Amino acid sequence: MRVDHIAIAVKNLEEALKNYQKILNVDHLEIEDVPNEKVKVAMLMLQDTRIELMEPTSPDSPISKFLQERGEGIHHIAITTDDIEKDVARASANGMKMLGGLRTGSYGRRITFIHPKSLHGVLTEFCEAPQENGKEE
Ligand code: ZN
Repeated sequence: MRVDHIAIAVKNLEEALKNYQKILNVDHLEIEDVPNEKVKVAMLMLQDTRIELMEPTSPDSPISKFLQERGEGIHHIAITTDDIEKDVARASANGMKMLGGLRTGSYGRRITFIHPKSLHGVLTEFCEAPQENGKEE
């Protein structure tokens, strides 16, 4: 397992990108709409992980709610799993509170979330490991 990405909720994607690019040497950047989560995501590719800046695309996006309640900041940490079904089953069996079922996230990968109450205040995402020949690397 490794940290796949760290997601940060922002009000304005372009403004946030400008600031993150002041500190990160990013030569690879992708922007993607994720309609399932009602967000627009800028992915800043680092060596072993990436930072995702997320701007809500709709007032009923979960990210809009997050921004209203908590302001900008770290929204979740995502962990890559080789076998998402097995790891979700293990997490559930160990009493983790899952948020919804498996669904499709960025890159068409299957994802799910664990409630922050189960993990000391941090919303945590499980995401399927990228395919070896996928477009990601
Ligand atoms: Zn994520």
